Amino acid sequence: MIGFGPNAPWGAVSQIDCRAKARDPRIRPLAFRVYFAALGWGNRLGHAEFAEGALASILGAEGAPLTKQAVQKGVTAAKALGLVAGDSGARCLVLPQHHFQNGGKGAASCRVHALRTSA
Ligand SMILES: [Zn+2]
Repeated sequence: MIGFGPNAPWGAVSQIDCRAKARDPRIRPLAFRVYFAALGWGNRLGHAEFAEGALASILGAEGAPLTKQAVQKGVTAAKALGLVAGDSGARCLVLPQHHFQNGGKGAASCRVHALRTSA
């Protein structure tokens, strides 16, 4: 169940639309697209797991994936802005519970961070 505290207002976003925005090279800086990827793929723990190279493909342009260094730079910038949590990396972007909750479908586990809940 979603809840951000007593009387705390909250909304919802379309993860499909967030995924499209993560892939949109017109959206700059790259940190914003990293954030949209976290929102778009965030599971019930707020973890968005990516296969090796998958985030580089999402953040690429015109069919060309970003380099590992460029992906890392974008993730680092997103962390510096507080858009994703400090334990985020190219294999898993993390959104803190005070910012993101997913009451719908999806895993409540993360292989990258070795997390599993019975929720
Ligand atoms: Zn994770």
